[in-house]
Amino acid sequence: MASDVIIKALKGIVGDSNASMSEAIRQAYSRDQNYMFNEPKQPGYVVRVTNKEEIRQILKVANDNKVPIIPLGQGVNIRGLCIPTRPGSILLDLKGMNTIKEINQDMMTATIEPGVSLGQLVAACRKKGVRPAVPGAPATCSAFANYMLRGVYHHNPQDGIDHVLSMEVELPTGQTIRTGSSAISTSYGPHCRYFGPDLTGLFMGVPGAFGVITEMTVKLYDLPERQELIGFGFDDWKRASEYAIDMMKLEIPSLLWLIDWIALAVIAGFSRRQIKLKTPKAALPVCTFALLLEGTEEDVELKLGKLEKLVKRAPPDQDLRDGALSTGMFNAEEFLGGRNVAGMLKMGYYFALAFFHPMSNGAEIFEMFKDIGEKHGFERDIVSFVSTPTKSGPNNWSGQLTYSEGELFVDQTEPGVIDNLKAFSKECIETILDRRYIYSWFRPYATVLDITLERAGETGDLLRKIKNLLDPNDIMNPGKFL
Ligand SMILES: Cc1cc2nc3c(=O)[nH]c(=O)nc-3n(C[C@H](O)[C@H](O)[C@H](O)COP(=O)(O)OP(=O)(O)OC[C@H]3O[C@@H](n4cnc5c(N)ncnc54)[C@H](O)[C@@H]3O)c2cc1C
Repeated sequence: MASDVIIKALKGIVGDSNASMSEAIRQAYSRDQNYMFNEPKQPGYVVRVTNKEEIRQILKVANDNKVPIIPLGQGVNIRGLCIPTRPGSILLDLKGMNTIKEINQDMMTATIEPGVSLGQLVAACRKKGVRPAVPGAPATCSAFANYMLRGVYHHNPQDGIDHVLSMEVELPTGQTIRTGSSAISTSYGPHCRYFGPDLTGLFMGVPGAFGVITEMTVKLYDLPERQELIGFGFDDWKRASEYAIDMMKLEIPSLLWLIDWIALAVIAGFSRRQIKLKTPKAALPVCTFALLLEGTEEDVELKLGKLEKLVKRAPPDQDLRDGALSTGMFNAEEFLGGRNVAGMLKMGYYFALAFFHPMSNGAEIFEMFKDIGEKHGFERDIVSFVSTPTKSGPNNWSGQLTYSEGELFVDQTEPGVIDNLKAFSKECIETILDRRYIYSWFRPYATVLDITLERAGETGDLLRKIKNLLDPNDIMNPGKFL
């Protein structure tokens, strides 16, 4: 079908003002911060939707005409997940679907639409005395997309990383799939994830490549009565990792971040120039712990007691409890909710390679990132590293499992830096896989997708078959997953 016929069909569904082929509008969706890994490309059409029926009809137009379609929640993933790979794609902007349909304090769930932002959900929940999971993503991101992509950075390990219970999904083939307890038309509600095989899980971590998720029910958590943010410093990453393992075994942290001096300097608001000159390095530990204790008054007292015993038995190299946290070196807000996104962005291009591994490997991986960085022209000292264990409390996940990020803040305009970054990224991923650190996608970003799928063998084949079953014409966000 010619483009004039498609735009006419789209306008017929959403109205003239909500479907556009205007160059200026398409340009706005054509690139993000990761343009060096995801080549900029304009979508052919931008469509803003407000309800499920419009989505159903648009999917039919797209599927009948084999036109690629890219769902966009808020579009702040900054890793190219909403950038088209094929000409003439439909960009499906879901921002207008931003209703919180229910906050159910009995079942501790919220049912939301795809355009609900994290900030919007937090504010609405707070009014009812509960909270959603809050990863450190910007408050403007789609809560929906973040949970679907298992937002983890800065999350509370006590909550685990899976917050989704059930979903409603529109497939390009015209079916509406309901997962979890909402699969049963007469069930009490969408509050339970279990219904035979985990179909909710099937759509998790998949960046719009199977269908358009139109509704999601997510877990809510109690607001803590008390929070205590505590800092410790270590001169050595290995010792810090061992200390973290001890703390996790004792179930002390609600949140625990191991942060190197660069990441801490960014959080603390040092300028890019100061960091480049390494001015803050002398004042900051090799590894700083941001440790958050949360719960009822009694819970926190109990945890403080356990911590005191641990510290007495094996004192950390620096005890930052006596005021250092409030002297500006350490931005407490960063760990209690709002993320210092501005601090990160002023550093230039933020490259992060994220994956899971056992905490006991932390020091080795920390050195690995630096070795590989040096080889590709990045000064050892500016290759940054942060880690957070994922296990603690009632949602224990698995042993020492830890989420880590090797990070680099670079000036993209420096000659050769992009090629060096690409080579650095490739070698890091290959080394992580070759050394058999437990590796898993954090998210299927362009930097890791092909290298990982090559090694997924028959499991990769099965995923391709599933994709083919759900999306036989390969129109759902092609090139971003399978
Ligand atoms: C400075 C900065 C810091 C960040 N820090 C963190 C952090 O600490 N922790 C963290 O978790 N994230 C972080 N992020 C990443 C970001 O917040 C998440 O990736 C975000 O939640 C996803 O972006 P979004 O919500 O706007 O979704 P989008 O960018 O709109 O979409 C992401 C992907 O999901 C797909 N998608 C969206 N909606 C649907 C739907 N309804 N159905 C099917 N597919 C859909 C899209 O096609 C796309 O592939 C950070 C981002 C920035 C800019």
